[in-house]
Amino acid sequence: MLRRVFGYDAFRGDQAEIIDTVVGGGDALVLMPTGGGKSLCYQIPSLVRSGVGVVISPLIALMQDQVDALTALGVRAGFLNSTQDFDQRREVEQAFLAGELDLLYLAPERLRVESTVRLLDQGKIALFAIDEAHCVSQWGHDFRPDYLMLSELHERWPDVPRIALTATATEATHAEIANRLQLTGAKHFVASFDRPNIQYRIVPKDNPQRQLLDLLRTEHAGDAGIVYCLSRNSVEKTAAFLTQNGIEAVPYHAGLDSRVRAQNQARFLREDGLVVVATIAFGMGIDKPDVRFVAHLDLPKSVEGYYQETGRAGRDGLPSTAWLAYGLQDVVQQRKMIDTSEGDLAHRRRLSAHLDAMLALCETVECRRSQLLAYFGQHGDTCQNCDTCLTPPESWDGTIAAQKLLSTVYRLQHERNQKFGAGQLIDILLGKDTDKVKQFRHQELTVFGIGTELKDTEWRGVIRQLLALRLLTVEGDYGTLVLTEDSAEVLGRRRTVQMRREPERAKSKSRSSSGKKSPAADLPTESLPVFERLRTWRATTAKDQGVPAYVIFHDATLRQIAIDLPTTLTALGAINGIGENKLAKYGQGVLETLATPD
Ligand code: ADP
Ligand code: ZN
Repeated sequence: MLRRVFGYDAFRGDQAEIIDTVVGGGDALVLMPTGGGKSLCYQIPSLVRSGVGVVISPLIALMQDQVDALTALGVRAGFLNSTQDFDQRREVEQAFLAGELDLLYLAPERLRVESTVRLLDQGKIALFAIDEAHCVSQWGHDFRPDYLMLSELHERWPDVPRIALTATATEATHAEIANRLQLTGAKHFVASFDRPNIQYRIVPKDNPQRQLLDLLRTEHAGDAGIVYCLSRNSVEKTAAFLTQNGIEAVPYHAGLDSRVRAQNQARFLREDGLVVVATIAFGMGIDKPDVRFVAHLDLPKSVEGYYQETGRAGRDGLPSTAWLAYGLQDVVQQRKMIDTSEGDLAHRRRLSAHLDAMLALCETVECRRSQLLAYFGQHGDTCQNCDTCLTPPESWDGTIAAQKLLSTVYRLQHERNQKFGAGQLIDILLGKDTDKVKQFRHQELTVFGIGTELKDTEWRGVIRQLLALRLLTVEGDYGTLVLTEDSAEVLGRRRTVQMRREPERAKSKSRSSSGKKSPAADLPTESLPVFERLRTWRATTAKDQGVPAYVIFHDATLRQIAIDLPTTLTALGAINGIGENKLAKYGQGVLETLATPD
C-alpha cells in the first residue's frame, strides 16, 4: 500500500508499528511532530481494514484540499461539514452507505447531529481517527468543546479501533488526551518532537518590520512563509508594508470578511512563494509542505503555541527558518494583558507560567532546541542549528547592572513617590539631559549617570531579563516598572544575576552552515533549468485542475526527477513520492517536460 498508493519506499519512525496496531483493531495515541507523517498512520489502516476510515478534524476549511490530495492518489475520500448544501451532503452519504469510500472526514460538531450518528450506524466503519487530539485538552491552547463528545465514540462503537493524533502535547496534555478520550487500553507512541530542519532564531526587536524585510530579502527571497502578529491592526500594516516593498503578502485574521479570508488561505496553499501575515487564527492543519519560514513579530503567549506555530515550517524536511523578534514592550504588554484578563486567579497564574517559560526560552544562553525539547519532557543535545549554537551569546555577571537599575526604581519609588517606564529609567542611568529629566529634576538623583558603561540597547536587555526573572514587574496602564519581593535579594547583595549578552549582529552569517534555503538550493547547477521547467509544468497543471501545486508532486520529488532524468515510466515510477495513480495521471506529462528543452 505504501509503495503502490503513496509511492514511498519505507515507513518512517513508528509508522509501521502504529499501522500494525490499528490494522489489528487496537487503539493508539500518537504524538508526532508536524511533518512526521501522521496521516499515513490512519490512511493506510483505512485502506487495509474493511469499511470506511472516519477522520474527525476541526479544520473544515481544509477538508476539500485533504480530499483532493487523496483523490490525486486514487483514494476514495469525502467529507461532511457545514459548508455543503443538501445535495452535496446526500451524495457523500450515499457513497458512504454504498461502501464507495475509503475515508470520510467529519467535523466534530457533526456528531452532535443525530442523523450523522444514524448514518454511521448504517455503514461499516474501519476506524476512527481523531486528528488534532490536543483540542480535547481544556488547559491546552486550542480547546474545542465539541471534542469532549468524542469520548462517546467508544461507548457507541466499542469494536471500532481509535487512533488519536497530535503534534503538540506537554506531558500533562498527553495524559489529559488519554483520559478524556477514554483511551485506556491504547498503545502510546511518542516520537521525538525535534524538527532538525528548522533553524530557531530569536533576536532582540529593534525595528521589526525592517528586520523582517531584511530576513526575507537576504534569506527567503521568493519563498512561501507565515508572519505572525498579535493584533489585526499590525497584521494589516505588516502585509501592506511587505507589499509596498515588493514582497507579495496577504493578510489573514478573524476580522476579515470570511470570503476574503478563505481566498487568502487558498492563494497561500495554491501559489508558490506567497507570504501570509496572520494572527494565530491562521495555520492549524495547514499541510502545505514547503513553508520555508515562520516569523513572529510579537512574542507568542506560550512555548506550546510557539512550537506549534513554528512547526508549520518545513514539513517537507528541507531547511527552514523559525525567526522571532522580541523586545521589552512585548513583556510589558503581555504582563498587562494577563493582569487584566478575565478568569480566576488560577487562570491568570497559568497564563503567567506560560509567559515565564516563553521568556526563559528567549533569554537562554543555552541551545534553543534543547530547551524547547526539555519543555516537552524530551532530551536533546546541542543542535548546531539554532542561533545560540551558531553564534553563542556571552553570559556575563549582570549583578551590578541589576543593582543599579533596581536601585533607580527604588529611589524613584521611595524618595519621590514616582514610577516610570523603561525609557526614563535608562535616560537617568545614562545621565541624559532630556526635557523630561529636567522636568522631574532627575539629574539630582544619586543614581543619575551611574550607568554609562552600558548602551541604551544593553540596558533594555537588562530590563527584559529582570522582567523574565521576575526581579522587576510591570504595573498599570503605562508600563511603569516596579520592584518585586525578590528584588530585595539583589539589592541586598544576597543574589547574583547571570545575563545574556546579544552577540554582535552576525548578518546572515549563521546561514553559511546551512546554505541557502530555496528548494532549488544545492541542486547541481546543470539540474536547475530542468527543475524550474518541472515547476512551471506543475504550476500549470495545478491551475488546470484547481488543486495546490504540492498535491501534484512535492518539491522533493521534483528535485529527484531533475537529478535522475528518467526516460521511461518505469524509471519515473521508482522515484520517491510517485505512486501508481500519479504515475498514470502525470507520468506522460513529466516525461514530455523532460524531453522538451527550453
Ligand atoms: P503530519 O500530519 O504528521 O504533519 P504528514 O502526514 O502531512 O505529516 O506527512 C508529512 C510529509 O511526509 C507528507 O508530505 C507525507 O507525504 C510525507 N511522508 C509521510 N510518510 C512518509 C514516508 N514513509 N516516506 C516518505 N514520505 C513520507
Ligand atoms: Zn542549538
